[in-house]
Amino acid sequence: MTGGIMKLLIVEDDADTASFVRYVLEQERYTVKTAATAFEARGYLKSFKPDLIILDRGLPDADGLDFCRELKLLPRCAHIPVLFLSAAKSPADVVDGFNSGASDYVTKPFGFVELVARVQALLRKPGLTGMRHA
Ligand code: CA
Repeated sequence: MTGGIMKLLIVEDDADTASFVRYVLEQERYTVKTAATAFEARGYLKSFKPDLIILDRGLPDADGLDFCRELKLLPRCAHIPVLFLSAAKSPADVVDGFNSGASDYVTKPFGFVELVARVQALLRKPGLTGMRHA
């Protein structure tokens, strides 16, 4: 493992949730950016290459499921794991999340200890930036 600081992008329009998640993940020494809209996230993703994207399903300018599918079709983003953060919590909602290409799905309200554990689990899967063996 080469280590290095992992970078996360949170796409969440609820400012309280975004700042709380950001705070918790910064305590874990991740570099965190937040975007409040899909439009803003698209802009960041032109230059910022996150190791993980945390995505709200209900964005003001996009359905998170559609945005996740969009990311999975972009060559420079397709490999980045997406973790959904959503109040939609029926089994069908969760399945829709995974079928859109997400790697994990956390329902709101969530506990930060569980969120951090899930983020860490996604970031230690082989094949991710910074964790490849030469
Ligand atoms: Ca929302």
